[in-house]
Amino acid sequence: MSQIRNKADVVIVGLGWAGSVMAEELTRAGLHVVAIERGAWRDTSTDFPVSIDADELRFHTRRKILQPMSVETTTFRNRHDQLAAPVRNWSAFQYGWNVGGAGTHWAGMSWRFTPWDFEVATRTRERYGAGKMQGLQLQDWGVTYDEMAPFYDRFERIAGTSGYAGNLNGERRKGGNVFEGARTRDYPTPPLQDTHWMSKFRQTTENMGYNPFTVPAGNLSQAYVNPLGVSMGPCTYCGFCDFHGCGNFSKSSPQACILPVLMRRPNFTLLTETEVLHAVKHDDGKTVKGVKFITKEGVEGFQPADIVCITAYQMDNVRLMLLSQVGEQYDPRTGRGTIGRNYNYQTCSSVTGFFDNEYMNPFIGGGALAVQIDDFNGDNFDHSDLDFIGGAGIMGFSTNGRPIQNMNGLRPGTKRWGSEWKAGYARDYQTAGTIFCQGTSMPMREAYLDLDTHYKDRHGQPLLRMTFDWNQNDVRMAKYVTDRAINIMREIGGQHLVVDNQAEKSWNPYMQHSSHTIGGAVMGTDPTTSALNPYLQSWDAHNLFVVGASAFPNNGGYNPTVTVGALAVRAAQAIHQTYVKNPAPLVGA
Ligand SMILES: Cc1cc2nc3c(=O)[nH]c(=O)nc-3n(C[C@H](O)[C@H](O)[C@H](O)COP(=O)(O)OP(=O)(O)OC[C@H]3O[C@@H](n4cnc5c(N)ncnc54)[C@H](O)[C@@H]3O)c2cc1C
Ligand code: SF4
Repeated sequence: MSQIRNKADVVIVGLGWAGSVMAEELTRAGLHVVAIERGAWRDTSTDFPVSIDADELRFHTRRKILQPMSVETTTFRNRHDQLAAPVRNWSAFQYGWNVGGAGTHWAGMSWRFTPWDFEVATRTRERYGAGKMQGLQLQDWGVTYDEMAPFYDRFERIAGTSGYAGNLNGERRKGGNVFEGARTRDYPTPPLQDTHWMSKFRQTTENMGYNPFTVPAGNLSQAYVNPLGVSMGPCTYCGFCDFHGCGNFSKSSPQACILPVLMRRPNFTLLTETEVLHAVKHDDGKTVKGVKFITKEGVEGFQPADIVCITAYQMDNVRLMLLSQVGEQYDPRTGRGTIGRNYNYQTCSSVTGFFDNEYMNPFIGGGALAVQIDDFNGDNFDHSDLDFIGGAGIMGFSTNGRPIQNMNGLRPGTKRWGSEWKAGYARDYQTAGTIFCQGTSMPMREAYLDLDTHYKDRHGQPLLRMTFDWNQNDVRMAKYVTDRAINIMREIGGQHLVVDNQAEKSWNPYMQHSSHTIGGAVMGTDPTTSALNPYLQSWDAHNLFVVGASAFPNNGGYNPTVTVGALAVRAAQAIHQTYVKNPAPLVGA
């Protein structure tokens, strides 16, 4: 039997960070919002109390709060002439599956992208000439860093981000990230404290002439009350952060920062354990009239709404656009179509060294606890004599010392079983330090997303298919930056180095250390190369907004969430300040 619900002003699909930020902004403006989330309700006090929070086996090893494979997976191939196979284990992708989305179990690294990231095509052409872009499908975002700055600031205040500004109104401040875009005020809370390993990394990189700073974190350094009136507590550096909830109310998350206020608003309704199948178009095909959904009992229904916001995470955003048949599927052979275009991953590597007779105390950790240098990130260094663009942040991190996860972090040559392994683990757990490089990734014509022609989900809808491998720009960049990280590790004095550069082999979903997958429904000013305008409004259906990392045309050398949050604030304000008064395209094509 089909259930038809009362019409809402706005229906939001998926209640992670993007959905929660939008729902808060839109309900505060007086709109009636219905959010539909396919996962269950999750609450800090009942689901992540401190007594169970530090359960690595449950949350990290067994992936307790990730989306179950039985619900849906993604199929993958490196090239379009291969047969794609379903991904059977969450490694490169770790989708959220509850109210709060992946924002419940994220780590908290809280970056703004650089001004260069938003205008990568224009700035590359201006500085190095068009030849530098050969083989890449570079395009600007249609919004500049300066335009984004107030929305970044709003999201950071909601999240309570800890850090120290390196560029305050143009004044470069030592100790902060001197390469960051200008801020009008400092972070809401001060930076986290260094561990022993972070101090070593900081001291050495400073002596080498680089500019170390504490990574901005959604693990709060002190008690804080955000602009919505929600209180948060200081992080205890418990180390059980990513893949876990935070029972301490210290990690920025929809649960900690937004839901306590949102759930009290009478003009907000939440349907949980209900999956949206697709958006439904009006007969003229020019706008959408709501979404079709199915409950966990298998009852299908329809939620009518004046405005549909898809905030279902990057991959699901693209899939829902394709299933809703809004916009044209991108075809890599002709370059036509926009949905699926500019898919990108992220280029990461790590260097681990061992320090005999030193105690790093790795059990002291936070999801975002790290010292970084940005001297080799983005376009912060001269690429004139280099055969790539982009770069990576290079960090000495203390993000976790979880005992099960670190069992394999042993120096080369150590047996992986028996008493030698046990002795090796006892020796190496305390003495290891890791440098991590999180790099940019640039789009190319052959990397894209579409619907799989073989595999379907439990409702009979096609799975999303990913066609991706590293391009030469990413490979060269990763090699260059990894070499810099090896130099730093040698200078710090690390021995028995273990180097893992993920771009050395073809991409596969089981070998990656990033969950930062982007693109596929990108923003821009040209409807022939972007699915969305700069307010994340579909060029093809003006009452449909698609919010998430799916909108990024290229990936920065940073984690994406603060940019997702800032784009969500910006889109929501455009909706309630402008769109509802005159429902039409916000930007001319
Ligand atoms: C282990 C881990 C660590 C991370 N660490 C960091 C970090 O340190 N810094 C950083 O910036 N980012 C980090 N990230 C990424 C970060 O979690 C995401 O960028 C962020 O959560 C994206 O928010 P979102 O709202 O777009 O999507 P999500 O948070 O995934 O929310 C989307 C929601 O939509 C729901 N949904 C999907 N499809 C449907 C449907 N058809 N119907 C109804 N509901 C649906 C999902 O169940 C989900 O709850 C990390 C991610 C992981 C997995
Ligand atoms: S490290 Fe800090 S923010 Fe993360 S779960 Fe522990 S207390 Fe919470």
